[in-house]
Amino acid sequence: MYMLCACGCGQPVTKRKNKYLIGHYYRGIHKNEETKKKMSKSHKGHAVSEETKRKIGEGNKGKTVSVEARRKISEHNVGMKGKHHSEATKRKISESLTGKHRRDKDE
Ligand SMILES: [Zn+2]
Repeated sequence: MYMLCACGCGQPVTKRKNKYLIGHYYRGIHKNEETKKKMSKSHKGHAVSEETKRKIGEGNKGKTVSVEARRKISEHNVGMKGKHHSEATKRKISESLTGKHRRDKDE
């Protein structure tokens, strides 16, 4: 039996001069807590955002969305609806966009 793989997997290497099993070299050189955590995380699948967790949680509570929740969602989605830019703001936006456009053309 040859020496055990240097990555720490506990399996013997397949060739006398090898320190690692095939594909285990990468594991060996990156063996530290930070990397292990990252690998463990990535192997568990996609990270679920807080927003997604909240949505799942709400979904599990049933189909009824409270008035409060609906109001919050509604407010969140409204954006500029019902609000108006002042003429000065509109002009500033226009100027900044025109300026960028012009600069791009001249260069
Ligand atoms: Zn190994």
